[in-house]
This record gives sequence, structure tokens and C-alpha cells, in this order.
Amino acid sequence: MNELSRKTLKTPDDLVAAGLISQASAVSLAAVAARYVTAIPPALVELIAQAGDPIARQFVPDVRELDMAAEERADPIGDHTHSPVKGIVHRYPDRVLLMPTLTCAVYCRFCFRREAVGSEGALTPSELAAALDYIAATPAIWEVILTGGDPLVLSARRISEIIEALDKIPHVKVIRVHSRVPVAMPERIDADLIEALKRTSKAVFIGIHCNHVAELTPQAIAATARLADAGFALLSQSVLLRGVNDTADDLENLFRALVAARIKPYYLHQLDYAPGTSHFRVPVEEGLALVRSLRGRLSGLAHPTYILDIPDGAGKVPLQGGYLSPEGDGTYIVADPKGGRHSYPPQPLN
Ligand SMILES: *Cc1c(COP(=O)(O)O)cnc(C)c1O
Ligand code: SF4
Repeated sequence: MNELSRKTLKTPDDLVAAGLISQASAVSLAAVAARYVTAIPPALVELIAQAGDPIARQFVPDVRELDMAAEERADPIGDHTHSPVKGIVHRYPDRVLLMPTLTCAVYCRFCFRREAVGSEGALTPSELAAALDYIAATPAIWEVILTGGDPLVLSARRISEIIEALDKIPHVKVIRVHSRVPVAMPERIDADLIEALKRTSKAVFIGIHCNHVAELTPQAIAATARLADAGFALLSQSVLLRGVNDTADDLENLFRALVAARIKPYYLHQLDYAPGTSHFRVPVEEGLALVRSLRGRLSGLAHPTYILDIPDGAGKVPLQGGYLSPEGDGTYIVADPKGGRHSYPPQPLN
């Protein structure tokens, strides 16, 4: 391993030095870098060298990120309208998102929170206390979902403080942690971090963000095995992405490898309308055909739910199962869980 492969790449110059982009594109990427944060940790720098495009596309900045489509928006799933306290998103009565930090181990170029992540770090102690107070004061909350940002970039000490605080709230029965760390920085899943996550008798589920079979390196599989052996239930979340996992073979290989690693495929997300992500977008019709083609071909264990987060904040619905009615011109009417109706893709903003 040379010196370069040991450091997290953050600037266009770092990317040039690592041979990931040319000097000429570093100039054109300056505007992208000014708008959206970049970080590619060592494990993923190495993986790009081995597995190429499907990994590089997810993490190496691209000038197309400056192209804003009319349907795209800064808050693509309407988080802001459901945030009663800083660090909390409360859309469904029985569960909340708790975002203790907006920092990530790696910044995905298609991220739905790309306008927020990397901008500020962790909640201050008093902000975190206020968020935990909100959860403690809201008896309807049955499940707390730690997300961000990536909660597993926090120190083991801070993670154990949060888990212990949640453990003390009687109406919280389930803690879910969403993270890309097992793939992006597998070495962080060490004994201290696992001990921190075990500071509760409540059910703990860990949702691992993984989009391509190559991300399940021997190191990543060893990290997820440590989590499974510690007794956590493991789920995966993937995003359907052009040029990354947009063939039936890509999805089959990914889902089989996840199940073999004791990770149950949970959601395959339709890409949200975050700014500058059109080059990743797979149309719903194509996504539905891909998902249909896997039925019969693949163990029932290996099928995630293909899921849409309705752009104006009405929540998530499966793309299969009668929630979508095609209008015949590539657009749909989506029924939300409460029976509201929404056009999809969303109406252009201008
Ligand atoms: C995605 C999301 C959840 C979790 O939804 P599940 O369908 O239970 O996985 C909860 N709250 C908010 C605000 C969300 O965006
Ligand atoms: S790890 Fe998650 S929150 Fe962070 S950049 Fe990637 S998709 Fe966004």
C-alpha cells in the first residue's frame, strides 16, 4: 500500500495525485468541489483501483453535478417540513430520525441530503439533549433511527452516550442505525464501537448502505460479520443508480452477496430528485422491469422492497403494490399512505 492510498481524498488536487481524474478535469471540478463536499477514504480509493467505474461513479465528483434538472430540489424528500427540533425528522407517528451528525465517511455524489451533509458537524451537547428530550416526551415513538450524515463516524464514547440515553426511554423499543461505514471504513467497526452499540437491551438493527457487489470486499464482509456475531440484525439499503447497478445481473449479484453475508436486503431506493443527479437516474418504468425480472430467479430472501420517497414529504411507498398509477406519458399519480395523491416526477419548480 503506498502513502496515497492511506489518506482520505478531499480536494480535486488529491484526486489528481491519486490518478482518479486528470489535471484538466481538476480545473472544471473546482466549481463542483466548491458546492458539494468530497471525501474518499482509503478503503474506497483502493476499491476504485480494483473495481473501476461502478465504484468511481458513486464517489468521484463529476461536472454533471452542476446540471440542475427542473424536477430537482434541495430538500428532495421534504425533511425540513417535518423537523420539530434540530436533529430530528418526525414524519410517521411511531418512528423518528435522529441525526447526531451531518458528517459522513464518504460523500456519495447522488446523496439525497447532499445540500446538508458535510456542512456542519455533530449536534452540540445541548442540541443532542433537546433532541433526546423530544423523543422522551413523545410516547408514540416506538423506533429511533440514527442517521445523518453517518452516525458511525462518531467516537465510540459519543455513540455509547446516545445508545444509553435511548435505552432509558421506556416507549422506545427499537433502535435502527443507518451507516455506510462498514463499506467505506470497515476498520472503524472495532470492539469499542461494537461495545458502544451494545449498551442497550432493546432490539438494534443496522442498515448498511451498499450499492454494488464489489463494495462487499473481504474487509467489509469481516466488518459486517463482527456486527452479526455481536447479535445485531443486519439490513441493507441500496439506491438504483445508472452505471452502477442498473442491470438485472448487477442487482442479482449484489443481493445474493448481501444475503450470503447475513445482511437482509431491505430497500432498493428510487433515486431522489437531489440537485445535479440526473446522470444517475433510472426511470421508474425501467426500475420496475428490472425488479420484476428478479422474481423467480432469486431466493425470496434476496428481494428488497423497491421504494419511492414521495418528493413533497408525504413519506415512502413501494413502487410495486398498487401505489403508482401510470399516466401513459412516463409520469405517474402516486397514492401516499394516508390516501393523498401526488404527481411523479414532481412538477418542475419554475
Ligand atoms: C425513511 C424514513 C423513515 C423510515 O422508514 P421505514 O419505511 O420504516 O424504513 C422514518 N422516518 C423518516 C422521516 C424517513 O424519511
Ligand atoms: S453516506 Fe449517506 S448521507 Fe452520507 S453522503 Fe452517502 S448517501 Fe449521503
